Amino acid sequence: MADERNRYLRQQAELGGPEVILTGGDPAMGTKGRVVEAAGAKWRKGAPRIPGPGLVVESAAVPLVGDPLRGLDTLDAVAERIRTTYCCDLCPPRTHAVPGEGNPDADLVLVGEGPGATEDQTGRPFVGAAGRLLEEILGAVELRREDVFICNVVKCRPPQNRAPLPDEIAACIPYLYRQLALIQPKVILTLGGTAANALLGVKQALGKLRGKVHTFNGIPLVATYHPAALLRNPDWKKPTWDDVRIARQLLER
Ligand code: URA
Repeated sequence: MADERNRYLRQQAELGGPEVILTGGDPAMGTKGRVVEAAGAKWRKGAPRIPGPGLVVESAAVPLVGDPLRGLDTLDAVAERIRTTYCCDLCPPRTHAVPGEGNPDADLVLVGEGPGATEDQTGRPFVGAAGRLLEEILGAVELRREDVFICNVVKCRPPQNRAPLPDEIAACIPYLYRQLALIQPKVILTLGGTAANALLGVKQALGKLRGKVHTFNGIPLVATYHPAALLRNPDWKKPTWDDVRIARQLLER
């Protein structure tokens, strides 16, 4: 009985099934217990199962000899370096650099593409319309903005909100690597194709990267749509909701 029950519980945990409460029974006494499903969070209902493995990226964050970021031991130190130095052509025209913000011990790190106009004005990530939608998405899986860490691949606004160029990404991404190395989250959720491709070191359509659990330096990485894309295309809300629920289940593993 105890073995069967343990197998059931393990299977449920692996599949992201609902939490269960064990009632009554005492295996030591040979009496039977009952497995009762807890009411469970609303977001669990109909959540997709955790999908299979995808791309595995190792060692992207291994510091090179003489790596100038190696000595930055805190997120504040990384942010200070970002705010006080230039690494590419996006930096000089900026109003504010946007290093990222949130819980330094976050289990979940969200990675967007790069700051927009409101972010450039405020120095904070995802505070415009896309940010408000992002907070709604987080709320739907019972997470608050302050629970997670939110940042971008590039820390300065690209002109006219264009996608960052490969050399801009190459110049700035060591900051993201350092942030991830310091936080060591349980899960990374990339928002939009730029972030997924940049961290996984590939050039693939987002549609090909969704629906798998990739691994970045041992950390599960889920790719989903950018909230700004959802504002333009509400049809992508449901698939995004599913991706976020996958990430949410991975947090509980
Ligand atoms: N879009 C992004 O990718 N990042 C932000 O911080 C805001 C909008």
